[in-house]
Amino acid sequence: MSIPKATRDMLLVEAQHRCTVCNEKCFEIHHIIGKADGGDDSPENLIVMCPNCHQHRYHRSGEFTRDQLRQYKKNLQDRNEIEKRLLQNIEDLWKEIKEKSAAEINKSLITKLEDANQLIDKSRSPKIAQSVSQMAIKMAELSIMPNAARRAIEVKYEVERQQLKSSVDQLSVVGIDDDAYRKNNKFGRAYEFVLILDHSPDSDWVKIFDYNYKNSGYSMKRETHIRGDRAVMIIADSDDLQAHTNWVKKLVGETNTWLTTEGYRNIDCLINESLHKELEQFDAIQSMKKRTQSIKI
Ligand SMILES: [Zn+2]
Ligand SMILES: [Zn+2]
Repeated sequence: MSIPKATRDMLLVEAQHRCTVCNEKCFEIHHIIGKADGGDDSPENLIVMCPNCHQHRYHRSGEFTRDQLRQYKKNLQDRNEIEKRLLQNIEDLWKEIKEKSAAEINKSLITKLEDANQLIDKSRSPKIAQSVSQMAIKMAELSIMPNAARRAIEVKYEVERQQLKSSVDQLSVVGIDDDAYRKNNKFGRAYEFVLILDHSPDSDWVKIFDYNYKNSGYSMKRETHIRGDRAVMIIADSDDLQAHTNWVKKLVGETNTWLTTEGYRNIDCLINESLHKELEQFDAIQSMKKRTQSIKI
C-alpha cells in the first residue's frame, strides 16, 4: 500500500467511508488505472469501493468499465457539492429567522424550503434530510409564520417519504459460489447450490422474497432461502443449474419490483395519512389562536 496517508484519509472522508458504487460501508481503495498500466496515486486516479464491488464485480466479473467508475466518482463529488450548498442554505435560514420580522421572511422561507426539498431528492443524503426535517419541526413549533410552518410540516413528511423510499433494498445476483457446494441431508443426492448476491438484504426484502418463493409456480422448484448475501438452494446433483439460476434471478427481480411498486404505495399511504393528521391539528390550533385574539377578558 503506497497511497500517501493524507490522500487515503481525504478519499475516505469524501466518500464517507462508503463504497462509491453501492454505498456499502467499506475501506478499500482501487486504482482506476492500475499501477501496472502506469496509473499513479493521485486522488483523481483512486476510488473507494467495497470488497464486493471491487474484487468481485469489477476485477472478477468485469461488471463495470473504468469510465463508469469515473462517472460514479463524479456523481459522489456532485452530491457532496449539493450537500454543502444545502447546509449553507439552512444556516442562512436560521440567521434570517432570528434577525428579520416574521412577515418579511415568511415568503423567502417557503422558497428556500422548496429548494431544499428538491435538492434532497437529488443528493439522497441522510444528513441533509435530517437537518431539514429538524428545522421543519422547529418552525412548526414556532408557528409565528403560519404559512411557512405549514409548508415546513409538508417538507418534513416529504423528507421522511424520500428517506423511506431510498432505504428500500434492491438486490442483484452477481455470481455463483463455486466453493460452497456441500452435501445436504434433505434427501439422497441433495447438495447446496449457492448464488452470490451483491449484498445482504434487509429483513423486509427477505420476507417478500420468501413470499414470492412460496407462491412461485416453477416446475423444478427446490427449497430456497436467503442466508446473508447468498441465496441457498437445496438441489439434486443432476438438476438443471442454468434453469435454477434463471429462476432465482427472476424471484430476485420480482422481489425488487414489488418493493418499488407495492412497497412504495404502502409508504405513500402511511406518509399521506400522518401528514394529513398533522396538518389538520395544525390548522385547528391556528384557527383557535385566531379566535383567541377577539376574546375579551
Ligand atoms: Zn460496493
Ligand atoms: Zn483494484
